[in-house]
Amino acid sequence: MPVPRARRRPADPPVHAPDADLRAAPVDVIRTYPGAMPEGDTIHRVAASLRRSLGDRPLTRIELPRVPRPHPTPGSRIQQVEARGKHLLLHLDGGSILHTHLRMSGSWHLYRPGQRWGRARAAARVVLATDDAVAVCFLAPIVELLDAQALRRHPSLRALGPDLCDPAADLDEAVHRLAALRVPPPTIGEVLLDQRVACGVGNVYRCDVLFLHGLDPATPIQDISARRLRALLADAGELLRANVTTVERTTAPQAGPGALWVHGRGGAPCRRCATPIEVSRLGEQARHVYRCPRCQPSRACDGDS
Ligand SMILES: [Zn+2]
Repeated sequence: MPVPRARRRPADPPVHAPDADLRAAPVDVIRTYPGAMPEGDTIHRVAASLRRSLGDRPLTRIELPRVPRPHPTPGSRIQQVEARGKHLLLHLDGGSILHTHLRMSGSWHLYRPGQRWGRARAAARVVLATDDAVAVCFLAPIVELLDAQALRRHPSLRALGPDLCDPAADLDEAVHRLAALRVPPPTIGEVLLDQRVACGVGNVYRCDVLFLHGLDPATPIQDISARRLRALLADAGELLRANVTTVERTTAPQAGPGALWVHGRGGAPCRRCATPIEVSRLGEQARHVYRCPRCQPSRACDGDS
């Protein structure tokens, strides 16, 4: 049966001026990867850009069209920008915390004042501006204001496992959380996306780290040793952190900037063995999963156990 190529969503329209202008400008572009859900690397990059362009300057505009009032007032400042896995938290000086999650649909853009936006105004869910920069979050399904207590009690944020974008992430804790997922026994492909185990990994790193370990995504976790699970999480973290500051997300650098091992390459030849990469669906959300059937054979025996 022919292997379908993964369909990509159309790219966001370009929102940035040429690089030469960017170097001279006080703002820079927040890069997301069209066609892929933002993963931890993207959110950490968004956080760095917002920190650099909006941090500790008075906000001249705060627009949250779908968030119940009261809203923070102009003049407020962002004291801290925090990425936790795929969640972004903007801590304002009045005690409000703006929480966003982009899921599959959202994106952050950063503009100069007066610059034309790349998407329709009706799609804006957050607008934050200073005298120098305008940050717009489009179509994020989660935008909410929290206070310190609500942040502590937030069910999704409380449940998050260690953030693999953090080089000091507690991998033993992640393996412990993973072992606690018992009924029904999940597959390694599903578990790597479970943000309660460890946060930051999305579909790209899930697929590519499993390729690097020669593991079929459908392998039940009980067939994989704790040592191998820890190594998988460590390598997923390394891939994420290698891309926090890069222009193009890359997991196979020897194949050039932007090259991935298997993700998004359905039907294309494996970079190691030339076998066509297969695409299937896995788990409750039936996300596409990519694998090389030769390098990642079904029920690969874990020689490490
Ligand atoms: Zn292969």
